[in-house]
Amino acid sequence: MTDRVPVLIVGGGPVGLALAGDLGWRGVDSLLVEARDDTIFQPKMDMVGIRTMEFCRRWGIVDDVYSAGYNRQYIQDCAWVTDLNGYEFGREKFPPPADEQPPQQSPQHRERCPQNFFDPVLTRFARQTERSDIRYRTQLLSFQDHGDHVTAVLRDQDEHEYEVEADYLVGCDGGGSTVRAGLGIAMSGEGTLTYTSNAVFRRAGLEDLHSTEPAYRYIFIGPEGTWATLVAINGRDQWRFSLIGDESHREVGEDEMRKAIFRAIGQEFDFEFLSILPWERRQLVADSYRKGRVFIAGDAAHLTSPTGGFGMNTGILDAVNLSWKLAANLQGWGGEALLDSYEYEQRPVAIRNVTEAGGNLKRMLGPRVAKPSAEVFEDDSPQTEAARREYGDAYTEAMKREWFSIGIHLGYVYEGSPVVVSDGSPMPPVEVQRYVPTGRPGHRAPHAWLDTDRSLLDEYGREFVAVRFDPSVDLRKLTAAAESIAMPLRIVDVDSAPAAELYGAKIALVRPDGTVAWRGDDLTVDPDLLVDRVTGRIRERALAA
Ligand SMILES: Cc1cc2nc3c(=O)[nH]c(=O)nc-3n(C[C@H](O)[C@H](O)[C@H](O)COP(=O)(O)OP(=O)(O)OC[C@H]3O[C@@H](n4cnc5c(N)ncnc54)[C@H](O)[C@@H]3O)c2cc1C
Repeated sequence: MTDRVPVLIVGGGPVGLALAGDLGWRGVDSLLVEARDDTIFQPKMDMVGIRTMEFCRRWGIVDDVYSAGYNRQYIQDCAWVTDLNGYEFGREKFPPPADEQPPQQSPQHRERCPQNFFDPVLTRFARQTERSDIRYRTQLLSFQDHGDHVTAVLRDQDEHEYEVEADYLVGCDGGGSTVRAGLGIAMSGEGTLTYTSNAVFRRAGLEDLHSTEPAYRYIFIGPEGTWATLVAINGRDQWRFSLIGDESHREVGEDEMRKAIFRAIGQEFDFEFLSILPWERRQLVADSYRKGRVFIAGDAAHLTSPTGGFGMNTGILDAVNLSWKLAANLQGWGGEALLDSYEYEQRPVAIRNVTEAGGNLKRMLGPRVAKPSAEVFEDDSPQTEAARREYGDAYTEAMKREWFSIGIHLGYVYEGSPVVVSDGSPMPPVEVQRYVPTGRPGHRAPHAWLDTDRSLLDEYGREFVAVRFDPSVDLRKLTAAAESIAMPLRIVDVDSAPAAELYGAKIALVRPDGTVAWRGDDLTVDPDLLVDRVTGRIRERALAA
């Protein structure tokens, strides 16, 4: 007998797990297959961005992220140095995660939670929904789209091959995606930016070996320019050292890696290698995110330089964008245009984010182009100290764009989306370092505190929400229209002048993923057309007044 599942997810990295969890949270069953076992050989991501934390809040797993294992008392400064017993050029100061306060635009702040801690949190969340069957050591071999369902051939740990049927298949299977290859989807952008080698090592009390103040991330600058980075991977005794490399492919063995680490720390010392992993830094986005009943998400759809910490966070946004659209179609109230809108909405976000990350890389490698003069590596005379300061200050200024990128995480917009109803207002500037909340359709629905710890965002997620800032507006026709197509809709009355001002209208229709789909001061649009449009049941059709 062939198993039948609504959604087959291929890949149990953070994006596949988030998709399984979000689907389960919506009451949708999924089967997730992951080729490896449940251990992470080497954690890649470590920064959980502010939008991802908002989703974790929605899923009720914020405390799990906090207690996942990273030392939340550990300082988060970034510093640029010659070596850890040499000179410091500059530093951007950040508090430990436990002391960080959310910005006024969000109820959350970003967190430090590397993949070896974050994946288990997501796995637990997905399993707790009791809707997600997660099978490790199970590999997708091939699949076929039959028009009304997909079949996939899987191989389990006993080399047993079997077939499953699914309504939809989502490839969250990383950069080398079998699903993307099977669909024949190419990627465009910049191929290999660098061949980089990472080593995770264990050394308790590393701080005692050097004279530099502690930091979460160190960037090492030598006469050749920027050559390596070191990141606190658990805020205790584990560190990830990256030999950045360049476009030329080369193997870095344990001896070379050890010498490079000694150079960075500025002395020889004992430590234990936990893993060494060569990887290619690329800047690519898939030309398409969907073919028929098969989708791709996360690194399968976009590959980016890690500079900025956008890769997984963009992928989790993919998962949340796609999940409710799949649910809507499986539950019978969503249309084809809703499924099409996934690519329409998320692909431009990926292009923006990978391009920004590439820019961050160029800024980080700036010292390779404008080489530091020899004097900045020299003695402590007032002249060389001044030269170092001048050099460091310029670098500090250049790097700010990477450290402060709230506009990437919260300021994305689904401009022109076929399932968003424009109100004709001009698009505000899309910025990186600044994010101005707006209730304009296509943007993330803004946060406002309704109570000491209740955010307006806490109202969003499971269904469409009509936020009403003026109780005199009659929404009965909208409710009736939603009911007629079984579109889940809840009306939330909000008595808050500041919130009303942020949303810029008396009513805002907010989608399950937390995006404003429509706003207005009255229900002057045809409610039937409105619900048909935002659920993708009709394509571009004017909304009659
Ligand atoms: C050094 C480094 C630091 C980074 N830091 C950050 C950061 O701070 N923040 C951030 O947002 N991003 C960061 N990233 C990027 C981030 O790690 C990736 O974007 C993220 O891991 C992508 O998640 P994913 O689930 O899409 O893919 P992956 O994590 O690659 O997972 C894909 C999974 O699919 C499985 N798979 C593949 N083929 C099959 C198959 N045929 N059958 C079954 N399973 C299969 C694989 O085994 C794998 O586990 C960093 C990346 C690097 C390299």
